[in-house]
Amino acid sequence: MTASNNGGLEVLIYEACSEQEALAVMDKHMRDYTMRAARGEHGWICSDCCMSYPEGMPDECFHGHQGCTDIIQRDKRNAMQEGNEPW
Ligand SMILES: [Zn+2]
Ligand SMILES: [Zn+2]
Repeated sequence: MTASNNGGLEVLIYEACSEQEALAVMDKHMRDYTMRAARGEHGWICSDCCMSYPEGMPDECFHGHQGCTDIIQRDKRNAMQEGNEPW
């Protein structure tokens, strides 16, 4: 994750009371970030090949990496499911 996509996370963690709470905040932040990227609401960066996709999460890895594509497909599926469920 790069600094430009990290706005506000430090503040959220600072405000969390316990380490457990901080982890939960980070987890929710990451899921939120992934979900929005999967919907194309903001850019996405593959943590494996560090390739950035300004249009949001692609359907498959730009380099054709099967491992990346698997993660993309999984995250997209999760994003769809979470869009219909309360947190
Ligand atoms: Zn990748
Ligand atoms: Zn790749």
